[in-house]
Amino acid sequence: MASRVIPVGPFDLVIFGGTGDLARRKILPALFRRFCAGQMCGDARIISAARAEMDSAAYRDFARSAILEFDDNDACAADNLEGFLEQLSYITLDARGDTGWPALKGALREGPVQAFYFSVGPGLFGDLAERLHKYGIAGPESRIVVEKPFGRDLASAQALNKGLAQHFDENQIYRIDHYLGKETVQNLMAIRFGNTLFEPLWNAQYVDHIQITVAESVGVGTRGGYYDKSGAMRDMMQNHLMQLLCLIAMEPPAKFDPAAVRDEKLKVIRALDPLEPEDVVRGQYEGTDERPGYCDQVENHDTRTETFIAIKARIGNWRWAGTPFYMRTGKRLKARASEIAVVFKDAPHSIFGATTGRHRNILTIRLQPNEGIELGVTIKEPGPGGMRLVDVPLDMSFAEALGPDSGDFPDAYERLIMDVVRGDQTLFMRGDEVEAAWEWVDPIIEAWQEADSAPILYDSGSSGPDDALRLMHKDGRRWREIKT
Ligand code: NAP
Repeated sequence: MASRVIPVGPFDLVIFGGTGDLARRKILPALFRRFCAGQMCGDARIISAARAEMDSAAYRDFARSAILEFDDNDACAADNLEGFLEQLSYITLDARGDTGWPALKGALREGPVQAFYFSVGPGLFGDLAERLHKYGIAGPESRIVVEKPFGRDLASAQALNKGLAQHFDENQIYRIDHYLGKETVQNLMAIRFGNTLFEPLWNAQYVDHIQITVAESVGVGTRGGYYDKSGAMRDMMQNHLMQLLCLIAMEPPAKFDPAAVRDEKLKVIRALDPLEPEDVVRGQYEGTDERPGYCDQVENHDTRTETFIAIKARIGNWRWAGTPFYMRTGKRLKARASEIAVVFKDAPHSIFGATTGRHRNILTIRLQPNEGIELGVTIKEPGPGGMRLVDVPLDMSFAEALGPDSGDFPDAYERLIMDVVRGDQTLFMRGDEVEAAWEWVDPIIEAWQEADSAPILYDSGSSGPDDALRLMHKDGRRWREIKT
C-alpha cells in the first residue's frame, strides 16, 4: 500500500548552520527524500547559511556529497538529485555579526511560508532571533525550528525561551524532538485513541507497569566533547523518554491538535511525583579489549558523567496511581533496541489451575529496529495432553500488515520539517513542557553534583548495571530483554 503524499505549498526554508553535521546527516537527506516523494512543490527554496565562505555552486557540491553519503533510501532516483540541488543556495552569514543578513533579506520572497531552521548551537539562538527582527526578515507568520539540547537545566531553558519570546510568539516556535516524529510514536496515539479495545484498560486497574527502553549499542564515538557535558539524563531522559512517557500516560485530548495534545502532555509531567534517589540508577560503560571505556574516550578521564540511566517514575493522578513507569536508556548496551511495553496485570483468577503458569498480556510498541506493534496473548498450546497455556505474539509489523512499501514511511526529520511548513505544531514541544521536564529532573542532577557521586560501571555489551535490574527486582518485576 503506497503512502499518500499531499504536496505542501511554496516555502522558503533557511538552514542556519547549513554546513554542520546535522544538516549533512539529517536535514538535507530528509528534504531530498520529500522532494523525491513529490511532496515539495517546484516552488520551494532552501537557503543555507553559515560563516564559511563559499558560493551556491560549492554548497550544492557539499549537499550532493552529503546526500549521496547519508541518504539510504533506494526509492530516491539519482536523477532527482540535480533537480533538488537547483532549489538550494548558500549565503555566507554570521549569526553574531552583520555579514550576510542584507543578502538573506534580499533572497527571501514575500508570500510563501518562511521557516528558519536554527541548526546551530543553542548559544546562537538568541543572536539569530534578534537579527531576524533587526533586519526586518521575520514577520508574524514566520516559523523557527530549534534543536535539542533545549537548555541544560531549568534556568538555562527559561533563558532560551525568554530570548526567543522577545521576538517570536510561541505559535511560531517549533522545538524538535525527533522521537515524536517517529511513525510508531504517532501510531501509539492511533492505537490508544482510535480503538475502543485499549483505552478502557489503559489505567492502574489493569496495567501492572510500563517499561520504556531506549538502548544503543554504540558508545559516544567522536561526540565525547559534547556528551561529557551532558550525560544520559540530559541527553535522552529529560527529552526523548519523557516525551514517550507523556504520550503513553496522557489523558485523551479532546482533539488531535497542538494545544489539546500539548496541554495533556504537560499535565502528565506536572503529575509526576518527585524522584527519590533510590528510584534512579546511573551507570557508565567500561571498555573491552577491543573498545575503549567511556572515560578513555573523553578528555577528563575521571569523568562522572553517566552513559546509562534507569528511573522508576510514579504519576500521581487517578489514572496511574499505583502503576510505576520504568524507563532506561544507555550506550554500549547489548543491542540497539527501543520499545515501550505496556505490561497488563495477570487475569484475576486462573480457571486452568496453578500448573498452567502465569500469563499476562503485553502490548509492545517497537520504535527501532523494525517499527511495529506486538500484542502478547495467551492461547492453548496446540495438541493433545490437556490444557497447557502459552503466550504468543499478535505481531503487526507494518511491512507485513500494510504491504512491502509501507516500510518506506518518512523518517522523523522528513515528517517534522514538512509539519513546520504546514504549520502543525502537534509533534513539537511547547516551552512550558520543556521547562516542566527540567523542573522534574533538575533536583536529581543537583543531588549527584552535591554528593559528587560516581556512576556505577557496567560492561560494554551488557544490559547496564546490575542495580538497574534490582530497581525492578525489588518490586517483583523484571526488565524485558534488550534484543534486536
Ligand atoms: P556543527 O556540526 O558544529 O555545526 C554548526 C553549524 O553552525 C555549522 O554550519 C557552522 O558553520 C555554523 N555556525 C557556527 N557558528 C556560527 C555563526 N556565528 N554564524 C553562523 N553560523 C555559525 O553542529 P551540528 O552537529 O550540526 O548541530 C547543530 C545543532 O543541532 C546543535 O544545537 C546540536 O546540539 C543539534 N543537534 C545535532 C545533532 C547531530 O546529530 N549532529 C543531533 C541532535 C541535535 P560555520 O562554522 O562555517 O559558521
